[in-house]
Formats: sequence, C-alpha cells, structure tokens
Amino acid sequence: MADLSKPKSVVAVVQMTSTPDKVATFDQLSALVGRAKSRGALMTFLPECADYVSESREQAVSFAEPLEGPTVSRYQDLARTLKMWLSVGGYHEKPKTTEETKRIYNTHLVIDAEGTIQGVYRKVHMFDVDVPGGVPSYESSYTAPGSSIGPPVAAVCGKVGMAICYDMRFPEMAVSLVQQGAEILTYPSAFTVPTGMAHWETLLRNRAIENQCYVIAAAQIGRHHAKRSSYGNAMVVDPWGTVVARCQDTVDVCVAEIDLSLLHKRRSEMPVLSHKRYDLYGYVVSNTILPVDSLSDYQFGQHTVKSTSAFYRTALSVAFVNRKPVLPGHVLVCPVRVVEHLTDLTAAETADLFLAVQSVAEATKKRYEVSSLTVAVQDGPDAGQTVKHIHVHVLPRKPGDFSDNDDVYKQLEKHDKNVGAREWRNDEDMAAEAAVMRTYFSTQ
Ligand code: AMP
Repeated sequence: MADLSKPKSVVAVVQMTSTPDKVATFDQLSALVGRAKSRGALMTFLPECADYVSESREQAVSFAEPLEGPTVSRYQDLARTLKMWLSVGGYHEKPKTTEETKRIYNTHLVIDAEGTIQGVYRKVHMFDVDVPGGVPSYESSYTAPGSSIGPPVAAVCGKVGMAICYDMRFPEMAVSLVQQGAEILTYPSAFTVPTGMAHWETLLRNRAIENQCYVIAAAQIGRHHAKRSSYGNAMVVDPWGTVVARCQDTVDVCVAEIDLSLLHKRRSEMPVLSHKRYDLYGYVVSNTILPVDSLSDYQFGQHTVKSTSAFYRTALSVAFVNRKPVLPGHVLVCPVRVVEHLTDLTAAETADLFLAVQSVAEATKKRYEVSSLTVAVQDGPDAGQTVKHIHVHVLPRKPGDFSDNDDVYKQLEKHDKNVGAREWRNDEDMAAEAAVMRTYFSTQ
C-alpha cells in the first residue's frame, strides 16, 4: 500500500471505561470518536478491550466475535461514516479454527477511513503475572498468543507499529517494529493501577526515546465492574520523549500533532539507530513470515518476479522458484531490497537472509526428500553472478544427479547464459511449484 502519510497530521487518543455491557461500551466509544472528529483528528486510537471488559474468563470467551462479526462491522461503519482511521487497540476475537474453542485472541485492528481493515495484530506476550497488591492474571488461560509482529501499517499519520499493553515491556518487539519501518509505536492498554503508577509513563517514554518514535497509548480508566479498575493516563509521547498530550483523569479524548519531519530530524541529529553495535550484543531479527501476495511483484535485479512465483517472505527477504532451474527444486532467496553485494547488506538484512535460507533449506529437504543441499552465493560477475542482486541458490541434491558432484557449479555458471525466452519456464509452472512450497510455511 502507498504511504499516505503527510509530514503533519492530527491524531486523537481515547481514554474510556469499557464494561461488560457491549452496547453501552460501543455507545461510549462512538461518542468519543465523534469528539475526536470535531477536533480535527484524522486517526483515533482506542484502547485494549474496546469492545468490553468481562466479569469472568468464561464471559470473555463467550462474548468474543470473529473478525466478520457485528462488533467489528460497527467499527468499520463508524470509520466510514466519520471518514476516520481507527486503531481499535484490542477486541476479543473468536478464532476461526475449532481447535481453539476455549481460547480467544486479543486482537488490535487498524481500519482505514473507508472502513477497510488494514492491519490485524494478535497480542504475542501473555500477561501471566501475580504482582503483590494486584489481582493475579493468567491471560494465557483464555487467550492464545499471536505469532507475528509487524509489518507496520502505512496509515494517514505515518507507519503504525501495532502492539498491545503488556508488549510495551519488551523493548525487542519495539526494535523489531522500528526495523520494519515503524514511525509510531502504539500500546493500547488496560493497565492495572499498581503497575500503572509504578511503570506506565516511564516505559512509554523509554520506548519513544530509544526508538526515536512517536508512542501513542490509548487507555482504559476507572472501574469496569466490582473486581477490576484501570489506571488511565492515555497519552502521546513524541520522539524526544516529551508527553505532548495526556487525557484528563476521566473518560476523555485528547489530540496531538504527529510531525514526521521532527521524527526524521531527531533521527538524523542523533543517529542512535545506525550507531547500534549488533556485532557486540546481537541483533533483534524480525523474521516473521508475511503473506507473499501482499506485494504484487518483487524486483530481482533487472527482472521482475511475480508474487505467484514467491513462496516465502519476511519484511527483508523473499524466496521464489527459479525460471530455469539447474535441478528440480532449485530456488532463490534474496533480500527484498535490490543490493548487489553481500557486503552491501545491513546487519538486519544479513541475519534475516540467512535465517530465510535456513527455513527454505528445511522446506526443500522435506519437499524433495533429500538430506543434502547445495547452497551457493555468487558474489560479483567474476564469480558468475549475472543478476546484480545478491541471491542465494538452494538446490536439493541426490546421489548421482551429476556424474561429478561439483559439476553443479559449472551448471550454475552456464544454465542461464544465452537462453532464449522460449527456454524459460512459464508463469503457470512456476506458480504451481511455488504453491506447493508455500504449504511448508505458515502465516497466521
Ligand atoms: P546468477 O547467474 O548466479 O546471477 O543466477 C541468476 C539466477 O536467477 C539463475 O538461476 C536464473 O535462472 C534465475 N532467474 C533469472 N531471472 C529470473 C526470474 N525472473 N525469475 C526467477 N528466476 C530467475
């Protein structure tokens, strides 16, 4: 999707008190979004449990609805009617699969001003804690953890990295979202009062300062029912760590200006993101598998590879089937960014590329029932590289597939030289092979 963001835009952050009553909770929410509209916001950020706060685990599960259910449709209608982007910071999602009947997802949605869902994030860190002075929580007893992080959604105010509440305690997740391009980190929450008093503002400001990002944290506030209350303090923090908007101590909405030029100025004045010493303390890799069809095609040096030929993708790497394989199952893995040499890759791309190769290697072994592979990189024309985009060849190997084992390298050198267009495989053949390979990887 195109980046819709302008350098400056107004966003609203909501503080509300959800209750077990879904209808009353939606009425409260829509009135707050209406207030945000009248204050000029292009996007409104709503907290976790935007649909309800239940009185029991059983109720949390039984009230849950699928993405196609009436509550999400109501959010979509609201977005469309008010021409407002929405971050619905958390609603109780009923999973599609029957295996998970007893557990739900804690799901954050980004909906655009036409009512289309642009981002779905299922909370990955479960709040299984027993803090002195607080009520013990075992979120994982009724909520299944999600299994992917990012990519950020290109929203009207910037690239929004989606997270939920407890996720703010995991700086690695914030780093991963920023590596994927996030300009705004969102932590819609229902923070407990003791942990809120001790940590809320400090954690949010830390995430903003260390990642040089805006942080937007919508919040639940006050008493939801006899057993549960939330801390409030919904706020927007700028990339310098300044709290630029904070809700009053009640149900409220406040607005802030997001200025992406300020963010990029801060990042260039103090380039901490490029000063990191990954060689010393390791690298946080965002190797979440993404849907390959989310891009219509991929650039491979001077060539364009249709997404139907691709079968594995992360934010930084892609794997696709070969147009003229040396052996059946000969595939290619390369960085999404067109980079000529291995030494031109960033640390992130290098780590991600080789993790991608490892995953593709495992799938290739299973698919072709082999125990050996040739994994080859030809870096530069003198080494036989013809496509000026660093790539890794992965080939399944069987006994006797060449009379001399290392002939594979001669074939890699020769196989695609001076071939006419008729000798390339057609798109249908490549799509069929890619479709089989895709079954070895799962995206949520
Ligand atoms: P090299 O000669 O090492 O640069 O390898 C280039 C590889 O890319 C060869 O194995 C080609 O068969 C393969 N190739 C070239 N164009 C495409 C394409 N459009 N789609 C898939 N594979 C391609």
